[in-house]
Amino acid sequence: MSVNVRYVRTVLVISGLAIVSLIMMWLMCPPVWDGWHSLILLLAYGALLLSAWMFPVRVGDQSVTITLGIELPLFLEFGPVITALALCAIWALSQWLSGRTIKWTRFAANASMFTVMTAISFLAYRATGGGAPPIEWSASLAALITPALAYVCLHFISNYAISLIYEVSKNGYKIDSWSMGVLWDLAALAGEVLIAFLLILLQHVYGPVAFLVTAIPFAVLIYMFKLYANLLIANRQLSIISEITMKLNAELGDQDIARILLAGTPRLVILTACYVFVPDQDLMLSALAVRGSSPEMEARMSELRIQAGEGVTGKAFATGAVQVSRRHVAASSGDRSPIAVTLSATGGGSILAVPLTYSEETLGVLTLTHAERNAFSKRDIEMVQILANQAAIGFYNARRYAQTKELSYLDELTGLFNYRYFESALEKQCARAQQKGIGVTLLVLDIDHFKRINDSYGHLAGNEVLRTFAQLMREQVRDEDIVCRYGGEEFAVILPGAGVDVGMQIAERVRECVEATPIHLSPVGAATILPVRLTVSVGAASFPEMADSPLSLLRNADRAMYVGSKQRGRNRVALYRQIEG
Ligand code: GH3
Ligand code: MG
Ligand code: MG
Repeated sequence: MSVNVRYVRTVLVISGLAIVSLIMMWLMCPPVWDGWHSLILLLAYGALLLSAWMFPVRVGDQSVTITLGIELPLFLEFGPVITALALCAIWALSQWLSGRTIKWTRFAANASMFTVMTAISFLAYRATGGGAPPIEWSASLAALITPALAYVCLHFISNYAISLIYEVSKNGYKIDSWSMGVLWDLAALAGEVLIAFLLILLQHVYGPVAFLVTAIPFAVLIYMFKLYANLLIANRQLSIISEITMKLNAELGDQDIARILLAGTPRLVILTACYVFVPDQDLMLSALAVRGSSPEMEARMSELRIQAGEGVTGKAFATGAVQVSRRHVAASSGDRSPIAVTLSATGGGSILAVPLTYSEETLGVLTLTHAERNAFSKRDIEMVQILANQAAIGFYNARRYAQTKELSYLDELTGLFNYRYFESALEKQCARAQQKGIGVTLLVLDIDHFKRINDSYGHLAGNEVLRTFAQLMREQVRDEDIVCRYGGEEFAVILPGAGVDVGMQIAERVRECVEATPIHLSPVGAATILPVRLTVSVGAASFPEMADSPLSLLRNADRAMYVGSKQRGRNRVALYRQIEG
């Protein structure tokens, strides 16, 4: 049976039960109505109930309402039928005022739960010797204690039982979040019973009118408490944000920024897992950092690849706007992204994806998930956004820093590495060769008669030749080989891991390729374009066979180039060992 059908069927069964309960309660204890007096009293109870529902106090992961504390005196005053009907009406009103749309299934589910719950509690109240409401407030309260406690207990148990039935019919059986909720609610129940007996006592001593006078200020008090609690939370969140921002500002590496962001976000909002996604060249998003509920989950999420525009995360990246999936992710939203599918497999949940945007560029996405639905409040989203903006600035600076650093190592004309980089790379590669017991070969290349090119075709054409030459060289070597522009028309290639033989092969290949590839230039003052053939002189030396330091390696390769190639007619490759020998 499909999940939805099973749920609707359960709602219908319990609704039927509710109608039967209502008739039974009416027969056993018909409602008593005392004109204006009852109306005003009912309105006061209503106001109290409404404020309790609309402004639940959030403590950590749970929200606490004190409705049961108001329900019990309401029941004692008006009896079960009016209590059940008032609960249904005021619950609906509270949902409507909170701007939530109420589907008929949700209304039927809740209304039938309230009614059945009230009926069961009423039966318990009766069975333990409670008199018919409305009770005589001025009578001794001692006789009331047992039936009132019976009412409270059965109310609590039946509330859970019916909610559990609904939850299981909807999502299947999962006890985790439930057992936690029960423990928490048991603690809250103690407070509710206290409030219930306070209200009862108030009416016992001063009569129902006294209750009227206190109910409205009490409702206001609940509201004020809610505001105060919110203020405390906001205050704490802001100080956390400022602390994390300071840490973010001190970092210049992508990884560190992501790590700080993921360590900070769970302190701001309650979540199951969070991720920082960044795009690659093909705009495929992958997780730069992951913080999940278990190592297995983290390992799986690290392998996620999400396309721009796909799912909540992809959409946040593509649009640059915050995306929230509040309920039943995979089922209702058509979201087939791996996160959504994983979440829906574990019983639905919420996903919040906040783009990391700075100066109109989206550099990544911060994605949070929660196992429960509707987990992220408006304020949660705002807080995460503040943090995401700060992280985006961090990512932007990190990227700029990396770019600047890279630029300072590159030759502007050819895009090859410059002399500054060459020096440190040569040192590093020699050290590595020594450590690993492998060789490294250095080639030094100088274009033959380059001055003639400048003279015949102009300096700009000379530049073009240098660029083309650089391109040719890059194509002839492996990606891990380091090609540098060493001077004006002098180049060097570091071949890590290459011994003498391999080094000479590569050198010969480059020389042949340069000789065989004509470059098309037009002579100064002429409109024609001529193919120009270049040649290059190459000197090679290997470490550690032919040099004992990076400096002597460079000197020897250079010497091989001059003595072995230039002096012997150019356009040839010379090895240092040969010219010395
Ligand atoms: P050979 O090496 O075969 O002895 O002759 P050559 O003509 O190449 O001689 P040399 O190495 O002494 O001259 C290099 C010339 O390269 C000198 C300079 O005008 C030119 N040159 C150096 N840097 C640049 C540059 O960035 N652009 C251009 N167009 N020319 C440059
Ligand atoms: Mg030169
Ligand atoms: Mg030259």
